[in-house]
Amino acid sequence: MMNRISKAIKNTFKHFHLSMRRKITFDYLLLYFFIGLISVLLIPIIFAFNNISGDVEKESYEVNRVLLAYNQEIYSLQEAEVKISQITQSSNISFEIIGYSDFENSVKAFTIQTGAFQNHDFSYDLFKRMDFFINEQLIAKRLDNQYYESEEENYTYVIYTLYPVTLYESELMTLGILLLVFHIIGFVLMGMIGGARVKKVLNPIYHMTKAAEEVSISNLTLRLDVNSTKYELKDLALTLNDMLDRLDKDYSKQKRFVSDVSHELRTPISIINGYASMLERWGKKDPEIIDESIDAIISESKSMQQLVENLLTLVRSDNQTLQYEFETFDLAELICSTVKEFNMLNTKEQSIACEVEKGLFVSLDPVKIKQTIRIFVDNAIKYTPEHGDVFVKAYVQDKNVYIHIKDSGIGIKKEALPYLFERFYRSDESRTRQTGGHGLGLSIAKVIILGHKGKIRVKSRLGKGSEFILILPIHAKL
Ligand code: ADP
Repeated sequence: MMNRISKAIKNTFKHFHLSMRRKITFDYLLLYFFIGLISVLLIPIIFAFNNISGDVEKESYEVNRVLLAYNQEIYSLQEAEVKISQITQSSNISFEIIGYSDFENSVKAFTIQTGAFQNHDFSYDLFKRMDFFINEQLIAKRLDNQYYESEEENYTYVIYTLYPVTLYESELMTLGILLLVFHIIGFVLMGMIGGARVKKVLNPIYHMTKAAEEVSISNLTLRLDVNSTKYELKDLALTLNDMLDRLDKDYSKQKRFVSDVSHELRTPISIINGYASMLERWGKKDPEIIDESIDAIISESKSMQQLVENLLTLVRSDNQTLQYEFETFDLAELICSTVKEFNMLNTKEQSIACEVEKGLFVSLDPVKIKQTIRIFVDNAIKYTPEHGDVFVKAYVQDKNVYIHIKDSGIGIKKEALPYLFERFYRSDESRTRQTGGHGLGLSIAKVIILGHKGKIRVKSRLGKGSEFILILPIHAKL
């Protein structure tokens, strides 16, 4: 029933565009209307019932007596009817006598007014619980002392006093009208005050919508006013601000990344451009200029290629498309051969040593692990002066393999440590010394180590040297 009503209401208002404020106010008014309707109908009935009174003790005693006589067959049914009619004749009230039996689980009624036994439709259980009922033009009320038990028939006769509704009509009307008037006033007040209250509560949403409209890529620093909001809306504003913070941060990062990439590409491109122009103008016949230009162009294009490859690795990692080819190999051999390669190019007369447990079999991606070790050893060599020491060791501990790359180089400032693995980060020292690459090595190493579910630790002291510790699971695939 309620479902059908709500469906009908929904269908009626389907084409109206309701604002949230109107919708809430409307819903509450509808609820108020139903509560009002029920109370306007129910309150007068309850009022009438509670206020029905009358001194019927004498009459009830008389009726009891007649019933007893009828039961003892002193009176016939007709005589009993006549007697009871006589008792009630003088007053407005009348009686209804209903008998029910626990034993037979049945109900039989004898209404004095009509003077006939009647079969009532209502169930026995329901009947037993009823204290009063409205019967056509009468209000019936059971009083505790009005009953009579007939042991022979197993029937208990309950005597209901019947009061004509007309007796209470005017009171009930007044009460009903009063209730109706107050409910209409309440309805109007609720519509007005409730609407204004809802508007006040929802006001922050309008502000939030306006503020959100003003937020754009060029204006990502704008935040919603959290102080003017309350309850769940405060949480919403906080969450939206949080989201804007993250967007702002990501966007700044993206902007910085693009500008860093452009910056890194500008130098080799302008060098290549310079040498190409030089070749065009003067170098066509000068073998010295030709050699120098070709060397420079090859070196710069290699550097660009390296940069582009590094960027691709990072982009693939961001897109989660960086593939890992896990296989079992001897890590000891891989580390030693990598160190050997560096030793062969050792131009700074450094001691580049390797101390690794023999037969260190692991299941990792050998190509990517080699790339990572190269990054760390390359850095250790780059940031260690001539005749310095670079030392690599590896061992197994607690199902993890530990790789240490230690150097006696320039070290890293404490303040620089949190930024070390950020893209394009280069410390001031490495920038001024012109030794660094593009500042992407450590961010790539981090991506690869995390991709193996590993960890990186750094220990460093400015001017004394640095130590990078890579901790990798022996079987990364698992
Ligand atoms: P780069 O290509 O500049 O070496 P990396 O990402 O490999 O870029 O390193 C980032 C920065 O970290 C370097 O520029 C340097 O300042 C610092 N760094 C890395 N390794 C070392 C090291 N072994 N000793 C001192 N500084 C280091």
